[in-house]
Amino acid sequence: MTRVAETKEHPCLACGACCAAYRVDFAVYELESEGGTVPDGLAVEVTGNTCRMRGTDWHPVRCAALVGKVGERASCGIYEWRPNPCRELEPGSDGCLRARQRHGLGPLEGSML
Ligand code: SF4
Ligand code: SF4
Repeated sequence: MTRVAETKEHPCLACGACCAAYRVDFAVYELESEGGTVPDGLAVEVTGNTCRMRGTDWHPVRCAALVGKVGERASCGIYEWRPNPCRELEPGSDGCLRARQRHGLGPLEGSML
């Protein structure tokens, strides 16, 4: 039984809702050109100090780095290089719950976390 739990796929890989629900703003120093990791081409400048993931202020919202179809099969194309707000939103959190609701998905169940 433990072995099944260990090999279980991460629930975010069948979701992606938060990447198609919120604006994702972050400090410019997270950009690759500023010594960070986020590819500049995937971000737009908001102010001199702040950038936004491209597509996260579009309607409908969809981050330009998101790959796949929300609610079926989705992943971040820059997972290792994603900005801090993306790292901070945890599966099962309120933000996760709201994002999933917007896409007609129920809350993650305990066994999915
Ligand atoms: S954190 Fe929640 S909303 Fe975001 S991809 Fe994972 S399960 Fe979906
Ligand atoms: S950078 Fe990746 S984790 Fe962040 S919103 Fe875009 S697709 Fe989602």
